[in-house]
Amino acid sequence: MSTEKVKKEIEKLTKDLNYHSWRYYVLDDPEISDAEYDELFKKLEKLEKEFPQLKRSDSPTQKVGGVVLEGFEKVTHSIPMLSLANAANEEEAHEFDARVKRFLDIKKDIEYIAEAKIDGLAIELVYEEGKLHIGSTRGDGEVGENITENIKTIKSIPLGLMGNNPPSIIEVRGEAFMHLKDFDQLNKKRAQASEPIFANSRNAAAGSLRQLDTKLTAQRPLSLFCYGVGRLEGKKLNTHFETLEYLKKLGFKTNPLSKKCKNIEEVISFYKGILKKRDDLPYEIDGIVIKVNDLHLQEELGTISRRPRWAVALKFEARQSTTVIEDIQVQVGRTGALTPVAYLKPVNIGGVVVKRASLHNQDEIDKKDIHIGDTVFVERAGDVIPYVVKVIPGKRSKNSKKFKIPSTCPVCGAHAYREEEEAVVRCSGVGCPAKLKEAVSHFVSRNALNIDGFGEKNVDHFIDAGLIQSFSDIYKIKKADLLKLERWGEKSASNLIEAIEKSKKQTLDRFLYALGIRFVGEHTAKILVQHFGSLEKMMKASYEELLEIYEVGPKVAQSVSEFFKEKKNRDEVLKLLKIGFQFLSLKKTSSHLQGTIFVLTGTLNSLSRGEAKKLLEACGARVSGSVSKMTDFVVVGALPGSNYDKAKELGVAVLSEEEFLKKVKK
Ligand code: NAD
Repeated sequence: MSTEKVKKEIEKLTKDLNYHSWRYYVLDDPEISDAEYDELFKKLEKLEKEFPQLKRSDSPTQKVGGVVLEGFEKVTHSIPMLSLANAANEEEAHEFDARVKRFLDIKKDIEYIAEAKIDGLAIELVYEEGKLHIGSTRGDGEVGENITENIKTIKSIPLGLMGNNPPSIIEVRGEAFMHLKDFDQLNKKRAQASEPIFANSRNAAAGSLRQLDTKLTAQRPLSLFCYGVGRLEGKKLNTHFETLEYLKKLGFKTNPLSKKCKNIEEVISFYKGILKKRDDLPYEIDGIVIKVNDLHLQEELGTISRRPRWAVALKFEARQSTTVIEDIQVQVGRTGALTPVAYLKPVNIGGVVVKRASLHNQDEIDKKDIHIGDTVFVERAGDVIPYVVKVIPGKRSKNSKKFKIPSTCPVCGAHAYREEEEAVVRCSGVGCPAKLKEAVSHFVSRNALNIDGFGEKNVDHFIDAGLIQSFSDIYKIKKADLLKLERWGEKSASNLIEAIEKSKKQTLDRFLYALGIRFVGEHTAKILVQHFGSLEKMMKASYEELLEIYEVGPKVAQSVSEFFKEKKNRDEVLKLLKIGFQFLSLKKTSSHLQGTIFVLTGTLNSLSRGEAKKLLEACGARVSGSVSKMTDFVVVGALPGSNYDKAKELGVAVLSEEEFLKKVKK
């Protein structure tokens, strides 16, 4: 590259990095991820090393990022608050260790303290004669913002030091941060209020602490882990370990995720351990910090431009990146849920190329105001499916397009509907191929049409072989079709055909339950059948008519009416009816227990739980799985479970097996 070209490149990188630093440190609203920033930074550092004469005075490599916001009083740090050099992997951590040894001219192992690197913002607390005097941000490292009043809203920060003998002056340094659950809540609230959301918990913490209105800071729960000391008068400390212990004694919170390590190898195994814990921590960490333990050695090592030589940040793989949403398509899951999926310009996040991200549902798209063509932050953390964190509004192009989940299923064309109080839109088609396997498994299951020999594997097999495309196809299967399939012999094929034939003799409630209408379980199916008497009548019922039925609520009413509104479903049901089902009438129920709720616990002597349930239902009672205030009776067998205790606690009537049988026989 010619010198002129390098000069231009350095100029551009400097300008870009300074712009992104401004967005990050001043606005708390970055437009690129930390990993992307670090990459540009590395590029600039490399060029500056090769061409030192071209280094600019405004280069971000020469200063600690951050500025003092207008409106805040300035605080000059008596000892600069520095940044940290980065190590991207174990190899670079070993290089750091070698550098330290080289500089100190030491061959033996160096003792380190390894600590989790909290992703928040650095603050300093100055205590004079044991009392909190001033609290400030790191700012540009030399001068920070006076945020004393805001800092006082952090509950874990002591206003006065513990112990009888406080040092005359101590400057305590630590990382202020926001717990992930508080960060999620804050972002949810902001999205609801159409306020811009924060890309990560670090930006949220910084934005919250640097508020001119302390009341706003007080509304956002922040925490602090202390990890160091600046000026200290009236106490002598020799190691960083001692410093941490001393801070604890004075009443500060230090992070338990820290360890004294004999050498760099021990540090690396600590790093690996912390990495495993990363996804389970209630706050975000972006690596570990490795610090030389001996404070005298720290002093000898000193600092270089914006960072100490005695410490390094060994970073974790990035979790976020920015990219462009090239398209949004809808996927239909096994339960019929229509899920919008963002197709992304492929982007490498922490070593994995991410091409798609879930957008969850229409509410999520609306709340985050996501358009096709938008530049967005994407996050891939732990086992979670990659998701879009937020749009970068400044990068929206004129060609970006709004997206609306279609009102028909993209797989089968049946109409899609949204359930009341639910965010999910569902396909209403009974034979939709996207949910066929699940639907058929349910259709043939024991409590539905009870077709023996139709296990889940066979269902998959028949569908994959093209034998079944809808429920009615089950009744078209011929012995010859089965014999053509692997592992099907004369006997097993005959048995299945027989079981299919047998299933045509059914009670109507089982048939209704088998259709797999959402919210229509066995009990609701019985109620509907008792009310309407025939499927033809039920199919014509309006939402309002359904709602009038005792025990039918809005969810069931909507689901049933949506189901029969769909022509494809009506056609399929009629097709099934034509096959020649003979509906047995529901057993006449005596209704002397109508409306009562029973819970069964423990083992009964004379009958199984299933039989007891049937008996109760035949008397009009309902059987529930757990005791609540609504429960009328709990039947207690041998070795009862926690439902028995719950019944006693709530004062629900308890029946022995004998008492129960008497009640039923009445
Ligand atoms: P840094 O975050 O890499 O490391 C230094 C900081 O680590 C300290 O100031 C302190 O706040 C923190 N820290 C956490 N735990 C600590 C512990 N136990 N001991 C000591 N320090 C601890 O450096 P930085 O200068 O604060 O920020 C630079 C980073 O900010 C960059 O690496 C970049 O990722 C990010 N950044 C991003 C953008 C963007 O646009 N996305 C812009 C500017 C900076």
